[in-house]
Amino acid sequence: MSSVRISAQIRMFVADRANHCCEYCKLPNRYFGAFTIDHVIPTSKGRDSNPQNLAFCCSNCNAHKATRQNAIDPFTGDRVNIFNPRQQIWHNEFNWSVDRLTIIGVSAIGRATVVALDMNRETAINLRELLYQFGQHPPLENEKQ
Ligand SMILES: [Zn+2]
Repeated sequence: MSSVRISAQIRMFVADRANHCCEYCKLPNRYFGAFTIDHVIPTSKGRDSNPQNLAFCCSNCNAHKATRQNAIDPFTGDRVNIFNPRQQIWHNEFNWSVDRLTIIGVSAIGRATVVALDMNRETAINLRELLYQFGQHPPLENEKQ
């Protein structure tokens, strides 16, 4: 979260790059209310609003992430970095459960981020289930990610 102004042009670039889905929990902006632009490295840490430090993010993930950069891996108890969508590939850190409703962390970063951002909250699972029934989940992947 930040009060730094980001131009409409940069917002659109960031949303397009993310296929208009949250870059953490993958919920589509089209069906899930207000999205925001996340500073991957918080501006409070001295990073600017360059698109290489920005991610398209649902309000839930953004609120949970806030200025955090690391979290506890529930498997090992180690403190690790939170997923960085500009430096890591989503499918290297996460995977969908067999029924496609739950995000499973497949690495320490993935496991810690799933918990820290509450990526499997009930509302997200309910929406995924509904979208799945209409063939709109999981979202198509953007090759740029
Ligand atoms: Zn999200």
